Amino acid sequence: MAVREPASEKASAIVELPDNVVVGRLDEMVSWCRKNSLWPMPFATACCGIELMATGASRHDIARFGAEVFRFSPRQCDLMIVAGRVVMKMLPVLQRIWQQMPEPKWCVSMGACASTGGVFDTYSVVQGIDRFLPVDIYVPGCPPRPEQLIQAITDLQEKIQREGTIFGREFDAPSRQEPKRALQRRGRGAS
Ligand code: SF4
Repeated sequence: MAVREPASEKASAIVELPDNVVVGRLDEMVSWCRKNSLWPMPFATACCGIELMATGASRHDIARFGAEVFRFSPRQCDLMIVAGRVVMKMLPVLQRIWQQMPEPKWCVSMGACASTGGVFDTYSVVQGIDRFLPVDIYVPGCPPRPEQLIQAITDLQEKIQREGTIFGREFDAPSRQEPKRALQRRGRGAS
């Protein structure tokens, strides 16, 4: 015959865990790992690139936020940082690199030129990379300071923690689908 434990003993058995044991949802734990191990892919085409380099240097030290492993192979990156204006001729290169990056991946648009075309209101400059890539965070300024880029990365980390799921359901949002369709249209040569 089973012996029933007193209610108070049952409750304490549930809350008391051994030292160094943490319980959480799998989504949260995966998001925590992802947000603290961002590997940036620098796509620096102009003056904003200098500020991007300064962000990685000793004074600002992006390593403090777990995002210092800049890679020049897209297959090893999960954070595209577009720093500088993108001309139409460079757009296929940008898209190719983005497509080569494995999922899940995120994008930061750094500076007025990448986000809106900036002062280059002309047919040859892309008037905002979000027409072709799903941008997660925009950094304003011409050029933005390294502190602003660091703020953008910490904001992105919060977003990953808040919305992230192990199967990447957050990437199915309609706002992310339109740039993807533009990417596919251009891939078929019908831009
Ligand atoms: S936003 Fe300003 S600093 Fe950045 S690439 Fe454009 S002109 Fe240069």
